[in-house]
Amino acid sequence: MFRKIILNTGEKKKLYGIRKKTLIAILQAGKDTYPDEFTALLRYNPKTGLINEFLMLPGTISGKRSAQLQLNMMPIDYTVAGSVHSHPSGSCLPSGQDLVFFEHVGAVHIIVCRPYDMNSWACYQFDGEPYPLEVVG
Ligand code: ZN
Repeated sequence: MFRKIILNTGEKKKLYGIRKKTLIAILQAGKDTYPDEFTALLRYNPKTGLINEFLMLPGTISGKRSAQLQLNMMPIDYTVAGSVHSHPSGSCLPSGQDLVFFEHVGAVHIIVCRPYDMNSWACYQFDGEPYPLEVVG
């Protein structure tokens, strides 16, 4: 089932899932940067509707409290679905700061948290509502 979402370009795109290997790589990146946060962009394939890549931006600041995307380093790329970042705290709920960010960049946002296993992630829409992203093997 495809769900229509509106990206901040105003275009309607279909995005319904994430490749399992991409999710595993993201969870691994969360583990690797622990106790710091990491953040990256999510890219998807408009033909399959699946997130299939994440992209670390040059100049991304990582820290124990926050990881910040350098938006001026953002490529002009309409396959950017949104963002991903990690919460070393163990809560996958978005912070107030996250919600402000979500509104501005992309359509869907994944948060991964400790212990970075297949159950420790969540996906949200730009408005902070949970987004049902399917994991596709
Ligand atoms: Zn956060």
